[in-house]
Amino acid sequence: MEIQSIGQAIFDLFFPRRCLNCDAIISFDNPLCIPCAANLPYTHWHLDKENPAYTKLKKLCNLSSAHSFLYFQHNNVTQKLLHHLKYLNHPEIGILLADKAKSELDLSKFDGIIPVPIHPKKEKKRGYNQVVPYAKTLAEHFEIPLREDILIRKENNPSQILKNRSKRLTTLQTAFGLTNQPIEGHFLLMDDVLTTGATISTCVNLIHTEYPEAKISVMTIAFAQ
Ligand SMILES: [Zn+2]
Repeated sequence: MEIQSIGQAIFDLFFPRRCLNCDAIISFDNPLCIPCAANLPYTHWHLDKENPAYTKLKKLCNLSSAHSFLYFQHNNVTQKLLHHLKYLNHPEIGILLADKAKSELDLSKFDGIIPVPIHPKKEKKRGYNQVVPYAKTLAEHFEIPLREDILIRKENNPSQILKNRSKRLTTLQTAFGLTNQPIEGHFLLMDDVLTTGATISTCVNLIHTEYPEAKISVMTIAFAQ
């Protein structure tokens, strides 16, 4: 046994790695134990165009299709994975989820993936935009461009939670902007969680004000029930 692996073995003995969902001790480099990884709450909505994500968003904006990969509920495995991805510096969780998603999807028809941007200050603090590891892995796999140069986040609103719904929507409408990159073709807008649909529909509507002919589909890692 190499000295480094002896050191790792001793470290693991005192600080065992645990499944972030069920707390079982795990001995390999994976955030979940084998049963938890095998029982992710998949939506399988790629088989159903009229799925709940599409039904929710089509009332708010003009889109071609929508898909969410996992169900998100309070305290479920998806919530824990996304919490680690977003707040605890685990971008590899996005890559892992994209690796699972790519076997059920075909994104090769899209002209690019547009990640919903976060404010540069937040991105600097977090180290990355939480949807990008997922989006980038899928873009590379399907050999389509990752277009981080289309949408920009203009305002940082940490106190959004305190505002009422109409104020929040007005704030959202001014929070995003477009660069001068032309948008032609069919793009996939990607975000981490679909909750009310306000953020995503704001982005879709913004793109359509400048580029009404552009086709936009939406994909999120998770759908909040
Ligand atoms: Zn587990």
